[in-house]
Amino acid sequence: MSIPLTILKDVFGYTAFRGAQAQIVDHVVAGGDALVLMPTGGGKSLCYQVPALARQQAGQGVSIVVSPLIALMHDQVGALHEVGVKAAFLNSTLSGEEANAVERQLLRGELTLLYAAPERVATPRFLSLLDGLYQKRQLALFAIDEAHCVSQWGHDFRPEYRALAVFHERYPGVPRIALTATADDTTRADIVQHLQLDEAQQFVSSFDRPNIRYSIAEKKDATQQLLRFIEREHAGEAGIVYCQSRKRVEEIAELLCREGMDALPYHAGLDSEVRQKHQDRFLRDEGVVMTATIAFGMGIDKPDVRFVAHLDLPKNIEGYYQETGRAGRDGLPSDAWMAYGLQDVVNQRRMIDESPAAEEFKQVLRGKLDALLALAEATDCRRVRLLSYFGEASEPCGNCDNCLNPPDMWDGTEAARMLLSTVYRVQQASGISFGAGHVMDILRGKETEKVTQRGHQKLSTFGIGAAFSEQQLRGVLRQLIATGTLAVDASAFNTLHLTAESRSVLKGERQVLLRESINQPASRSRSRGG
Ligand code: ADP
Ligand code: ZN
Repeated sequence: MSIPLTILKDVFGYTAFRGAQAQIVDHVVAGGDALVLMPTGGGKSLCYQVPALARQQAGQGVSIVVSPLIALMHDQVGALHEVGVKAAFLNSTLSGEEANAVERQLLRGELTLLYAAPERVATPRFLSLLDGLYQKRQLALFAIDEAHCVSQWGHDFRPEYRALAVFHERYPGVPRIALTATADDTTRADIVQHLQLDEAQQFVSSFDRPNIRYSIAEKKDATQQLLRFIEREHAGEAGIVYCQSRKRVEEIAELLCREGMDALPYHAGLDSEVRQKHQDRFLRDEGVVMTATIAFGMGIDKPDVRFVAHLDLPKNIEGYYQETGRAGRDGLPSDAWMAYGLQDVVNQRRMIDESPAAEEFKQVLRGKLDALLALAEATDCRRVRLLSYFGEASEPCGNCDNCLNPPDMWDGTEAARMLLSTVYRVQQASGISFGAGHVMDILRGKETEKVTQRGHQKLSTFGIGAAFSEQQLRGVLRQLIATGTLAVDASAFNTLHLTAESRSVLKGERQVLLRESINQPASRSRSRGG
């Protein structure tokens, strides 16, 4: 039996490597650099823990693991102690004396794995420790966990990660393994560049999480929709509800509690003791619903999270996939549910427009948001879309909302043209642009004060969209904005503007297909409603 396999069995008690683990382990044990992309729950830890043990057995010394999360380090070191592996960590929770004790263990060669916080690694003191080990050829491996933290595009950016290039520069010949569960092409390229991993072999596992059912609902009354979703599908089960703002986190947590659920808030504005207490309860007790901002979740290893709900749109697909990936680590059926509406699109676009970042940077953010919006607007398999975003081809999954209930399509081209030509005419007539509300009023033939003041009731498009309800037109609008067919100027009162894409719809060169449920002509639903 190979040494890694013996270690896997004897130390960790597992019978076989999973997926790409065996290949990765062999490559690293042999001294190669590796970049590992594996979904959450895929088994990344063993990819460096087994090589650490193998290389130490071969007399090559200690492995250094960089991990951004203190809680995660504690868990991992605790788990390693349980199976008899000598591991320790160095982070800000240790007293000076405790840290000194760990350093002495390190120098005496008593450790197989040392976990360290990124901010500690680049300190002169730590580097001089490593220098000493390197001179004695006792540095076996560098593992860089959550490697996407090196990229400024994700929401986990840690500037300290940039300093980790030092491993390559200062300790040539010591293999490095970087691991992450999130990496689209841009992030992957960033990891390679900033960690100088050009020579590293890349191991890309399937990112599919077949037990997670993806659903994206049109936002109508988001809180009621959330309540119904939890009550119908996950009563009494553990889940995470992500909201964008702290205030909303608090409100939703209260609402869920009033409905008899065991819900707790979590966001960066809470005292650290409160956060810790809530996190502990979520991990320990059954059926706790954590209502949280994205401050919650990284490194949380709770196997039976049955659902992850998004009440607000995440920033990009990577964030969405990472957050939803916290559901169902135990492999049992779980839900990723999101409510999504026009306001989400407008808000996210505005946040990018108004950020002080450089234009080039904003372009990247916009591209990433567009990909997420395309996913939300998609009428075909969500999983195919998600996986293809991560460069993986797949067949329709049969386990997402669109596969299970294929949406009826409705040709919204006419409604879209009406909307776009109204935007155009209003701009022509008044020399300025207007927002969605006013444009819809004109389209639906409402003689509001603003309409008559501006004389917009005389426009040729006035009232031509009367057959559509406001809700229905909002659906068309949302899709037009989501697909860049119509632009919203956040710096000018959210006014609507035509884009290059608009013209192709106006000229009849492009069809606008919409979901029936969202965009039924009003006449039909009216007659049905009596
Ligand atoms: P990740 O860091 O990729 O999210 P972990 O390393 O925490 O995943 O592993 C997820 C779970 O899978 C852990 O409970 C781990 O013990 C288990 N696991 C990993 N590899 C194997 C394997 N080869 N056989 C059995 N269980 C494994
Ligand atoms: Zn599907």
